[in-house]
Amino acid sequence: MKFGIAARLGLILAAVVVLAAGLTGYYAYDVSRALLIESAKNELLTSTKVLARRIMLNRDEISRNLQLLSNHPAAFTALEMGKPAQLDQLADLFELIMKANPGYFQVRLISALDNGMERVRVDRDGPRLMRVTADDLQEKGHFPYVFDTLQLVANETYLSRIVINHERGAHSGLEQPTVQLAMPVIDPQGKALGVVVINVDLNGTFALLAADLPKDFQLFLANSHGDFLIHPDPAQTFGFDKGRRVLVQEQFTPTGDLVAGKTDQVLIEARDGPYATAPVVAAFIARKATLSSEETQLIVGLAQPFASVLEQANKLGVVTLRIVLILCAVCILLAAFVARAVTRPINNMSRAVQHFAEGYPVSGLPLERNDEIGILARSFHRMQNQIRQQLAELLRRRAELEQLAQHDSLTGLPNRLLFAEHVERALSGARRDGTRLALMFIDIDKFKLINDNLGHVFGDLLLKEFSERIRSVLRESDMPARIGGDEFVVLLHTIQDDLDASVVAEKLRLAINQPFVLEGQTLIVSACIGIALYPEAGTELLELSRHADQAMYRAKENGRNAVTIYSPTAESI
Ligand code: GH3
Ligand code: MG
Repeated sequence: MKFGIAARLGLILAAVVVLAAGLTGYYAYDVSRALLIESAKNELLTSTKVLARRIMLNRDEISRNLQLLSNHPAAFTALEMGKPAQLDQLADLFELIMKANPGYFQVRLISALDNGMERVRVDRDGPRLMRVTADDLQEKGHFPYVFDTLQLVANETYLSRIVINHERGAHSGLEQPTVQLAMPVIDPQGKALGVVVINVDLNGTFALLAADLPKDFQLFLANSHGDFLIHPDPAQTFGFDKGRRVLVQEQFTPTGDLVAGKTDQVLIEARDGPYATAPVVAAFIARKATLSSEETQLIVGLAQPFASVLEQANKLGVVTLRIVLILCAVCILLAAFVARAVTRPINNMSRAVQHFAEGYPVSGLPLERNDEIGILARSFHRMQNQIRQQLAELLRRRAELEQLAQHDSLTGLPNRLLFAEHVERALSGARRDGTRLALMFIDIDKFKLINDNLGHVFGDLLLKEFSERIRSVLRESDMPARIGGDEFVVLLHTIQDDLDASVVAEKLRLAINQPFVLEGQTLIVSACIGIALYPEAGTELLELSRHADQAMYRAKENGRNAVTIYSPTAESI
């Protein structure tokens, strides 16, 4: 298949455009994808920081609630006197605080006396709150949250390790991840009378804190040693409580630096181990405890499936691809249009040139254009005019040459060559049609004398006038010619018989005898005319010529100024 300029130009333009659009699209997609992933990671880190901050604020809030309760007058009197009215008032206060804080499992007032006897205790039991009284109250003096807290100064908060609550009779909090915050109740003399303890539901509190995070975010919490406390797979949490260790630094190696205290935040792309099939992007933050606690720091982490990070990049890829495809389609159309626009005038011109080559005049060239095509069209137009002029000149010269080659330059009569052609044609016509012809030879009498007496130039003048005289007598169909010096020939068509030719010859002779007035001189001239008839005197040009010549000479011999018809017996009129 042969491609025209339009197809090739269109293809090249389209290929360049598709390549450029494809590369631009790919580059834009690649850069945007990297930016999107980077921004998703930063967003994740920010969310983790916010979450860690919320945890800290939550602790501060619990601390403030503990301050409120431990400084409440009812707490003093309840511990000092243990009157039921004060105990009830305090229990009401505990219930109010627990209603406002769904993450609290239990709020208690524990005495420093009687082995740490619980004085007021409100438990959460499923959806309701439950006051534990009388015999159900227990001695808790042996728990660190009691004896450690009693060592603290007023308004100082104790924070326990986060553990699974195995305490007997803990209702909803039993066997649940729990953290205890406590504060001593100090009398005006500075003596610790007891402690107020709040048990916090770790999972519930975290669920509330993380409620507004996207659904596909995974939440992690680890203690200062790296033990998972919260993990999307609950089986991996509180390993130490089940006699084994499941550590954050083993699942997410870079978090080792957090556990070791070398850094306080890490961003991880986890692609192996449990994350080999579903890689995640994770951010972990270590926060030091601001409260006095065995737990020196907490490690908070959020992870997002890589697939959801890439989802946006993929959407962007689809949009980019669409834009590139639309751009390509538009550009291909544009390329086709441009290619056509460029080649149409060229095609028009090529048709015009073809037209010109076939001999037709050329029209419709884009002469008015100002571009290269206009220049080409104008050049072609000029060239066409030049060719026309040169062709006309050539034809004129050829006609001239033909005239020169076939005519006598002095008289303008046909020469021997043209006459011979003419006679051959006439002979073949006569043979075909069975008609007759007459060939005449005319020779001026004593022409040499005229030349000698009046000059060669005068002789020429006479030859011209003589030829005019012959012409004036003959018919259109008869052909005169000058074959040399003062010799002329005439071919007569449509001759019926000898008489016809003789009559014409006689008319010629008489016309020649009429005086010639040349340059003021009057001259009487005569000539001899020999006639050869076809087919009697010959059927070929040579034969006829010879016989006409012979007849003419016979006329000369007979005294000149005469007409003689060829006959083998030398007859004359
Ligand atoms: P005749 O009656 O026997 O024909 O006598 P003539 O003098 O005419 O003799 P001839 O026909 O043999 O001579 C022709 C002369 O015509 C000879 C030559 O000098 C002259 N002649 C030939 N060509 C030209 C020409 O082109 N111009 C002129 N002026 N004279 C020519
Ligand atoms: Mg002569």
